[in-house]
Amino acid sequence: MSNLPTFFPLSFSVSSMKSLHKCAMLTFREQIQHLSAYSKNPDLIAGGHVAKACELARVAYFTEGKDEDECIELAQEYILDAEDTGDTVKTNEATAFALGQYFRKFRLSEALPPCSLSDGTHAVEYKFELDTGIEHPEIKGRNIVFSGRLDYLCEKIIGNVVTRHGLDEKTCKSVYRVQGSKTIDYAKEADRYRLDSQILSYCFAARALGVPLTSFFIRRIPIMKDFEPAFELELQVNDFMLDLWWKGTRELIMDYKEKYLLYKSGLYNEGEVFIPKYQEHACLSYGKTCRYLDGCFSKDGVGFLTERFSQRIWDRDKREEVDLLTYLKENNIE
Ligand code: SF4
Repeated sequence: MSNLPTFFPLSFSVSSMKSLHKCAMLTFREQIQHLSAYSKNPDLIAGGHVAKACELARVAYFTEGKDEDECIELAQEYILDAEDTGDTVKTNEATAFALGQYFRKFRLSEALPPCSLSDGTHAVEYKFELDTGIEHPEIKGRNIVFSGRLDYLCEKIIGNVVTRHGLDEKTCKSVYRVQGSKTIDYAKEADRYRLDSQILSYCFAARALGVPLTSFFIRRIPIMKDFEPAFELELQVNDFMLDLWWKGTRELIMDYKEKYLLYKSGLYNEGEVFIPKYQEHACLSYGKTCRYLDGCFSKDGVGFLTERFSQRIWDRDKREEVDLLTYLKENNIE
């Protein structure tokens, strides 16, 4: 067991579960040792800008009652002033342009309106936390939660029938085409998302919040050298899938907690418990080398990592990243 302090996550999210699926060691470094260094991913930055800009436009339109064009401008200005994406294709300018075109195709005034919530707001960027029923290994009486953020829940009203749907925008630099043509292969595009844990988690959370969804819309916003209009995919999700997703998610968290307790027993070193996967899709995910690679070359590899990373954790009360050791002391965690 290394002498670096550790702390098991208080909450899991879709992205932290994705790390867990990829490699147990990656999750150990990232979420238990909290070895942190800011690394920029242009796709994530551009995706984050679009999500925030859509939120701003929708809140301005539906909650504040602003004019549609003004809302689109507001969203585009946000992207232009936001952090540089650092990408030569998904530039801030190209992203803002694609979003403007997107809102001209999927107009706010013709869009499915967001579900109204009891507090007078609308279901736009709604944060949720689901109790997993699994007790945290270091804080007695506190359960681990699964947390996330629903981008947009909307309603379709036909006559007297109201159906509810989820909606998420996804930027992309390429799309599937029907072989030998320029036509988008919608079936293949939909297959990318049919069992996507993010979509299933949104649908599960919506059902848990008392708003079961009839279907989920994905709107793909291509940001390419040559302009390509945004397009929509509709995914059907049923209770069977949602129940299994939740069962699988809880099982993964429980298994990981067991591993952690084994590690904390002091009988094994980290590599024996959180076995590195050494697989291309994990170590070289999306063509990017895992930032903890040096730690996996030798038994004492963690020594290389401590020179480059500091141990920092997000403090929910202070709403800032703080030193892990200080956090543990302040919260009386052994
Ligand atoms: S380099 Fe590969 S094996 Fe090592 S932590 Fe990263 S993903 Fe896991």
